[in-house]
Amino acid sequence: MRGRAIPLVLSPPKGRGKPPRHLADLDLVERQAAAKELGLPGFRAKQLSVHYFERLVHDPEQMTDLPAAQRDELVKGFLPELLTPVRTQTADRGTTVKTLWKLFDGALVESVLMRYADRATICISSQAGCGMACPFCATGQGGLQRSMSTAEIVHQVVIAARAMAAGEVAGGPGRLSNVVFMGMGEPLHAYKATLGAVRRLTDPAPDGLGLSARHVTVSTVGLVPRMRQLADEGIPVTLALSLHAPDDELRNEIVPINTRFSVAETVEAAYYYFQQTGRRVSIEYAMMRGINDQAHRAELLADVLSGEGRGTNWTHVNLIPLNPTPGSKWTASDPADEREFVRRLEARGISTTVRDTRGREIDGACGQLAAAEG
Ligand code: SAH
Repeated sequence: MRGRAIPLVLSPPKGRGKPPRHLADLDLVERQAAAKELGLPGFRAKQLSVHYFERLVHDPEQMTDLPAAQRDELVKGFLPELLTPVRTQTADRGTTVKTLWKLFDGALVESVLMRYADRATICISSQAGCGMACPFCATGQGGLQRSMSTAEIVHQVVIAARAMAAGEVAGGPGRLSNVVFMGMGEPLHAYKATLGAVRRLTDPAPDGLGLSARHVTVSTVGLVPRMRQLADEGIPVTLALSLHAPDDELRNEIVPINTRFSVAETVEAAYYYFQQTGRRVSIEYAMMRGINDQAHRAELLADVLSGEGRGTNWTHVNLIPLNPTPGSKWTASDPADEREFVRRLEARGISTTVRDTRGREIDGACGQLAAAEG
């Protein structure tokens, strides 16, 4: 076997049982069946769905179209508490909000809400911890605790949508428009839960939240078979691939899963995603000083992306200034090297942007989510 062994088996949540079943785990038909099992008419499940996904109602007292006795039953059976806030931190004058959540079994995850002039984005977790062991990422250092359930993933978004609607985020009432699976965990390692969450986020209300699939981004370390599977699901979400290096030698070191799937295979799978969905794939590239930010690597990146006759119109490179994490030996690139990297990619016809670093001072920026409590 080459390199470090990273289990690819979809492991069931470890330890203290499964997260409680929640409305957001089920589609509308399954909810209606579950209501009948509770001895309640199926249409109650739909009414409850309207409250949860459409009106974003939090307080059962406000669900006045449900008879009081049945309301308790429904709330108990469908809306168990999934996420308990442990700590909230804000930055950027209240427009960036990071929340640490405790799950039913004590596992900790984080989400980050970022409000911009034209949109509001929630960055969500898909696993408590992560098993991909990328050495520059804070989450990767602690290993994987467990994957989250569909409802645990979705509920992070619903809570953010409520906060936006209720005007609790600086800037007044607004609408949550975008979701990125760029918090803790590898979403394609928690494939089933992630796919369920993607469906629930994009299904029209009251089945789901009714977000535009284009505004939902699933970010992956590059689990090639899962990328291909997602491409075939027929949901045109945006795919982001965390490439970070254009050559196997370096990528084996900074993205250890590369010892299983080479750069060539990974980029081919990303291109397949574009071919199947028509969605441009975002290539994430964290700029690490003296490691992956040299001019020759910019050229090699352009070669790798446009190789095999792929051209350049299928992709977009998103450079992320590295957020140094405790104990990591790497730092962000020199701004001049970053500019040169951008210049070379653009000269090769590759659309390139540099990501802003929202929430950096509250450890809420990319790769800094580590769920340390205290
Ligand atoms: N497991 C998914 C989601 C990870 S977080 C993935 O690998 O894509 C989202 C992005 O932040 C990834 O591109 C990840 O590589 C990047 N990232 C992780 N640590 C970082 C750090 N310290 N600085 C900048 N980006 C980082």
